[in-house]
Amino acid sequence: MKAKSARKLFGTNGVRGILNKDLTPQMVLDLSESIGTFFGRTIDSSKILLGWDGRTSSPMLADIVASGLVNAGCKVYQAGMAPTPAIQFLTKIQSLNGGVMVTASHNPPEYNGIKVIDKDGVEISPKDELIIENIYSKKKYERKDWNHLGEKLSIQDGLDTYREAIRQKVDEEKISKSKLKIVVDPANGVGSLVTPYLCRELGCEIITINANIDGNFPGRLPEPTPANLESLCKAVKVSQADLGVAHDGDADRAIFVDEKGQIQWGDKSFALIVEHFLRNNPGEEIVTPVSSSQMIEIIALRNGGKVIWTPVGSPYVSRTMINKKAKLGGEENGGIFYGPHIPVRDGAMATALMLEIMALSGQKLSQLIEKLPRYFNIKEKVPCPVNLKSKILKKLESNVKATKIETIDGLKIWQKDGSWILVRPSGTEPLYRIFAEAETQEKVEALALRYKKLITRIIKNIRRK
Ligand code: MG
Repeated sequence: MKAKSARKLFGTNGVRGILNKDLTPQMVLDLSESIGTFFGRTIDSSKILLGWDGRTSSPMLADIVASGLVNAGCKVYQAGMAPTPAIQFLTKIQSLNGGVMVTASHNPPEYNGIKVIDKDGVEISPKDELIIENIYSKKKYERKDWNHLGEKLSIQDGLDTYREAIRQKVDEEKISKSKLKIVVDPANGVGSLVTPYLCRELGCEIITINANIDGNFPGRLPEPTPANLESLCKAVKVSQADLGVAHDGDADRAIFVDEKGQIQWGDKSFALIVEHFLRNNPGEEIVTPVSSSQMIEIIALRNGGKVIWTPVGSPYVSRTMINKKAKLGGEENGGIFYGPHIPVRDGAMATALMLEIMALSGQKLSQLIEKLPRYFNIKEKVPCPVNLKSKILKKLESNVKATKIETIDGLKIWQKDGSWILVRPSGTEPLYRIFAEAETQEKVEALALRYKKLITRIIKNIRRK
C-alpha cells in the first residue's frame, strides 16, 4: 500500500483545524449534511453513532453535527463523551451504518476535528472521504423535507459494554492476582471515563493524575510526548507504582512509564505486545508503518512472525489489517491495534494487554524492556512551504547515498551501518517530518541533523530558481 496525496478537507486522521479559523460552525454543519448524505445514499434513515471528546468546543460542535445528520435524514445515536476507540467499537458491534467522532485527538486545545467511521468501526477509506468532499464542495448535500427528517436518540451504557469487551480479551484472573499498582494520566481527556475504571475492574490499585475532564487541559497538553509526561513519571516513582500509562486527548494511544519512572516509548511497548502475541499466535503477520523501529521486525522474526509495512497513519494500519486478515498492528506513537477487539488503535486495550504481559511474566516493565534489541530514534520537523512539498523528495533521492531506498511513504533511506532515515511530507502542516534510527544516540542525532540541513538546503535551492 502506498501513501495517498493530501486532499483539501480530510487529512491523515479526518478533518482537523482551529476552531472558528479552519473549523467554523457553518462548515461543520455543511460537512455533517454531506456525511449524512453519504451514508444515506444506500440506505434510508441510516443509523449513525455520535461521540465527542472533552474539548471546550466539542459539545457545541457535536450539537451541530447531530443537527446536520438529522437534516440529511439520519437517525443519530448520541453516545456522549467517549474515547474515539469506544465510539469505533460501538459503531461496529451495534451494527450501525457509521459513526462520527468530534475530536482533535492529541492536538492543542484550540483545535477540533471530525472523524468519520465506517460500519466496521474503522475510519472511512480515502475513496469515501473523496465522495464526501465532493458532496461538500459541490453543495450536493441533502436537506430533507419537514416530514423526512431523521431523529436524535441517545444510547446508554456504551462505555460499560466497551470496557467489558476489553476485559474479555485478556486473562482477568492472572492480572487480578498480581495486584499491580498503576498510575493513569488521561491528560484531562476522555480516557478518564474508561482506563481508571477498567484497571480497577482488573484488580489493579489505581492512582490517577489529570483525570478530571477539562478542555483547557490544565494538567498537561494532550499529546503524550516525553516533555508532557514529567508529572506522570514523578507520580509513578513517588507512589512506587508498577506502571504508568498516559493517553492522548481521545485515548486511542497509550504511552507507558516503567516502575523506575522512565518513559518507554511506543516502539518498545509494541515490541513487547508483538512478542506476547506471537507466542500465542505463531506465524501471524504484524502490521506497522515504515516509521517504526526495525526492532519490531527483529522481534517478529525471532518469534516466527512477519511484518507488513504500511504508510504512516492509523487508517493505513487498520485497512491493511482487514485486507490481510492480520490480528495485530502498532505504531511508534503508542497506537496498538488489537484485531480480536477491533483493528483500530485503542489506548485502553493497549493498557489491558500491557497489564497481562506484566502479570504473566511476573517481571517489572524495565526488566522486560531491557531484553529488547536496543535502537535509538529521533523525530524532527523541517518547515517547508506547501507549494514546494512535492518537489523535495525527487531532489533528495538524487542527492543521497544509500544501501536501499524504500518508497512506501516518502523516502526511507537505509545507511550502510543499518541505520535509516525516513523523510515524508506532513499531510496536514507545511513541513517535512523526519524519523531516524541508529544504534547509538550520537549516531541518530548526527544522521537527523545531516538530513535536516540537506532538506533545508534543497528548499533554498529550489526557491532561488
Ligand atoms: Mg488520538
